[in-house]
Amino acid sequence: MANQAPHVEGASPLTGRTEPWMEDLLADPAQCAALIREHGSPVNVLNLAPLARNSAELTDAASDEGVRLGVYVARKANKTHAVVKQAAAAGLGIDVSSLAELRQCLDLGAAASRLIVTAAVKSGALLSEAVTAGALVSVDNADELADIVAVASHTGVTARVAPRMASADSRIPPTRFGLTPSAWDRALEGLPASVRLEGIHFHLNGYSAAERAVMLREALAWTDHLRESGHPIAFIDMGGGVPMSYLDDRAQWRAFWERLDTDAHGTLTWRGDRLGMTDPCAERPSASVYPYWQRHVRGAWLRDVLRSHTPEGTTVAEEIASRDLELRVEPGRSLLDGCGMTLASVAFRKASSDGIGLVGLHMNRTQVRSTSADFMVDPRWVRPADAGPPSPALEGFLVGAYCVEEELLLRRRLLFPDGVARGDIAAFVNTAGYLMHILESASHQLPLAVNVVRDEGGWVRDGIDGPAGSGTPTG
Ligand SMILES: *Cc1c(COP(=O)(O)O)cnc(C)c1O
Repeated sequence: MANQAPHVEGASPLTGRTEPWMEDLLADPAQCAALIREHGSPVNVLNLAPLARNSAELTDAASDEGVRLGVYVARKANKTHAVVKQAAAAGLGIDVSSLAELRQCLDLGAAASRLIVTAAVKSGALLSEAVTAGALVSVDNADELADIVAVASHTGVTARVAPRMASADSRIPPTRFGLTPSAWDRALEGLPASVRLEGIHFHLNGYSAAERAVMLREALAWTDHLRESGHPIAFIDMGGGVPMSYLDDRAQWRAFWERLDTDAHGTLTWRGDRLGMTDPCAERPSASVYPYWQRHVRGAWLRDVLRSHTPEGTTVAEEIASRDLELRVEPGRSLLDGCGMTLASVAFRKASSDGIGLVGLHMNRTQVRSTSADFMVDPRWVRPADAGPPSPALEGFLVGAYCVEEELLLRRRLLFPDGVARGDIAAFVNTAGYLMHILESASHQLPLAVNVVRDEGGWVRDGIDGPAGSGTPTG
């Protein structure tokens, strides 16, 4: 049995939730070291077994409320081919946001009828490939609709579309996406039969169940109107933003923000960064950080949406079911909960010119980053047998490979009571949703991280990285 892993925690700890497969790998330093030796540092490690469980949590919650739910994985949250294959195997649809994403899904055998194209800007090539393949297109605006009409008439293939709905309700924040129902009604006048409106699509920023309920009611009213106009509306797609929790412990989450509120000297964060803090007592204390702990996630959250009441005294679920509509969701992050870790090896230990402890990793900050101001989960630590001698206990920050002062991998101060050794491995847990890929960059001509996926035979390189040996980085 390996020695006890070296301990690491935030100066105000935020302990990440893990899956059994993660604990198994973390307990095997030789395997972690072998993955980095073979694939370079960092290496993204994926096990997609939890995907089907996460999806079932949503479909079960919906069916308990009498609602048929279609789940479409938002592919932009993780680029690997494995996600496509696993989604198809689990009977899930896929939400694609570019031509490359669409083509790969088709090449990997995903059924076109189970794809929705939600790209924010759609090229002619994307539209014609989507329409001819028979994928559904979420149409954003009247100019895009004109492009789709042209593609349909040019190819002779009926285009399947879902207009993207922006809310006209003052309770919903303004959005750049979609059009309001009344704007759509004007844009849809004289729509040729070669374009078929199969459903209504929306996607909201944030994670509010109450806002989704408002949007669904608006979409239900618009469904009735569109059906009266002869459109075969069969579903409402409520987009993504289904919440998840990275942390099990609400008390840790609250304590971090309460301490940061009074942390005048930067003992918690890099040079006193406030991380966009507003009210530390709010459930969601910062506008610029993902809510890493949330009260209701996935199934419980969807139940909140579906059980919410309409002014008529019915529930949203009853209104959906009585119209024989399918409800669809497009979660990215919350379906990938538990599906990935990022491993990176320690390059150096040092102090800044003003004495702040720094631990340099062989990675850069775009390799564990989303649009959130920080990844608010403490890393785990692995000490392979061939790591160098550990330092004395230290505290400080993880820094990366980009040549800028603000190249912090995490912006929170970490404590290392067991010291840090060269060759130690930092493990960022639960990174499969967005953290690996959404902002990754090859700046400085540093190679992108390799992605390895668990299958029966062990850890195999994912197809997104091309064949092994093609530009594989070395540690
Ligand atoms: C990003 C996005 C999603 C996924 O959002 P999550 O927060 O990962 O669930 C779904 N649909 C659309 C249209 C998106 O842009």
